[in-house]
Amino acid sequence: MEFLRPASWDEALAAKARHPDALPLCGGTDVMVELNFDLRRPPALLDLTRVAELTTWSDDGAVVRLGAAVPYSRIIAELSGPLPGLALAARTVGSPQIRNRGSVGGNLGAASPAGDAHPALLAAGRDVAVEAASVRGTRLIPIDAFYTGVKRNALAADELIRAVRIPVADGPQQFAKVGPRNAMVIAVCAFGFALHPRTGTVGTGIGSAAPTPRRAVEAEEYLRGEFAGRGLWERGGTLEAGLVRRFGELVAAAAAPIDDVRGSAAYRRHALAVIARRTLTWTWNEHRRQIRSTA
Ligand SMILES: Cc1cc2nc3c(=O)[nH]c(=O)nc-3n(C[C@H](O)[C@H](O)[C@H](O)COP(=O)(O)OP(=O)(O)OC[C@H]3O[C@@H](n4cnc5c(N)ncnc54)[C@H](O)[C@@H]3O)c2cc1C
Repeated sequence: MEFLRPASWDEALAAKARHPDALPLCGGTDVMVELNFDLRRPPALLDLTRVAELTTWSDDGAVVRLGAAVPYSRIIAELSGPLPGLALAARTVGSPQIRNRGSVGGNLGAASPAGDAHPALLAAGRDVAVEAASVRGTRLIPIDAFYTGVKRNALAADELIRAVRIPVADGPQQFAKVGPRNAMVIAVCAFGFALHPRTGTVGTGIGSAAPTPRRAVEAEEYLRGEFAGRGLWERGGTLEAGLVRRFGELVAAAAAPIDDVRGSAAYRRHALAVIARRTLTWTWNEHRRQIRSTA
């Protein structure tokens, strides 16, 4: 197996153009497991750990540009303010060792339906985009178009993920994950939720309950209509139990889960409805607190 070790981003893109079948490696927490268990035997590895710019992020006040290899531990420590949903999701990934190496770029590269970054990215808004680059140039792939199938994504063979662009949170965000214990679990199901008071919308992201991470579009539309119709954004009133329940039902209906060793499809739907109701309630209570404190 060839081992390619570019020292710069341009060298990395040139290497990927010459060797489109080379497997990129960021933190290696997925790649090394696959190699060690002989699940994959790529002709070449493209080690990106020397490309310093992949481990940087910037924030212009509106959008965070998160380098593909920024590890989860730094997202938690440095980005809980602008990206609260993603930081909460990062807290649930693996163990401290995995969080020190694993990255959102790697989560996107693997595109597992159980990846924890995905629900948070989907919920963060429709403007979230993956920066994909090759020697041919750079393109922005909207997050909704990125997941194309089970462990498949929209990258071309010569493309690498450089960064992810994520709007700075304009309201409370939450992430909840169901698993048999608190750490080191692949999600039985997961849910990301965000309030976007500036646009009067909400964002959702379902994990581990469909072939790809996906939104609960009808549930988002339902809340948008109800919040606007009842003037809830301005008033910050309490949410009726029926509204919260209906939201949970619509989220569960948006999933397409399977029965597997981690849980049955019926359990996944049930659990999704529960965590959808909880994350809505938590974020709404936080929104009300914010309204009261600025009144
Ligand atoms: C013990 C253990 C526990 C785990 N727990 C969790 C968990 O709780 N939640 C969770 O979501 N995941 C978990 N994972 C999986 C893994 O840690 C995550 O998917 C992580 O985000 C992968 O990031 P990485 O940087 O290590 O990716 P890598 O292993 O380096 O790469 C992963 C994939 O992305 C591709 N890739 C990497 N970088 C790029 C790039 N720049 N451009 C294009 N493709 C790229 C690689 O070729 C590979 O296909 C766990 C793994 C282990 C071993």
